[in-house]
Amino acid sequence: MLIHGLQKMTLLDYPGKVACTVFLGGCDFRCPYCHNYELADGTAGPIMDDSEFFKFLGTRQGLLDGVAVTGGEPLLRPDLEAFITKIRELGFLVKLDTNGYHPQALSALLDKGLVDYVAMDIKASPTRYGVVAGIEKPDTDRLSQSVSIIMNSPVSYEFRTTVVKEFHNIEEFHHIGQWIKGAKAYYLQQFVERDTVPDKTLHSPSEEEMALFLEIVREYVPNARLRGI
Ligand code: SF4
Repeated sequence: MLIHGLQKMTLLDYPGKVACTVFLGGCDFRCPYCHNYELADGTAGPIMDDSEFFKFLGTRQGLLDGVAVTGGEPLLRPDLEAFITKIRELGFLVKLDTNGYHPQALSALLDKGLVDYVAMDIKASPTRYGVVAGIEKPDTDRLSQSVSIIMNSPVSYEFRTTVVKEFHNIEEFHHIGQWIKGAKAYYLQQFVERDTVPDKTLHSPSEEEMALFLEIVREYVPNARLRGI
């Protein structure tokens, strides 16, 4: 397994846990607001292989609770299951970040009990997904399958939306709320403007807009929260 980034300690990436974060390159989406675009499009080369990573992880037993596996899109990696299995054998919890476009691979990992926490992006309502994820004609059934797999699994999870002024509005959040109605955890994350994202014309919504969107999604997901504000 080639690894494209490693944050050796984080209190933010795995809710309630002290973790490290492993970044795996490659993604099948091209979100114009992506903060890890050099990972998504393959521009960033690997920084280590898994043997070096596991050497590092061995020095963190008793210090870290878990490993957040993110990307890119980790579920594109055929060797992900073996990688995660080894992390768990060393006694660490595993959190998986996913764009939700690979329901079969997700289901296989969850059925085997290999993931302790899943975070799935809900980028937009189904009809607007292609624009926000940067792909043509997305198969939103695959996303709906992932939503259903996660909500029907005993695994801890969250859905999350990075809110971008140009993409999201009140109507969008009514549609998204209906899509994930009854979810246990949903976070709205304010897009942070950076000059490294592919579309530099995009803007962060205001705090007032975020509060309004939260009010709307709480009609469907009462436990929804803002993150990072
Ligand atoms: S799914 Fe995530 S990693 Fe892939 S392009 Fe979108 S934001 Fe970037």
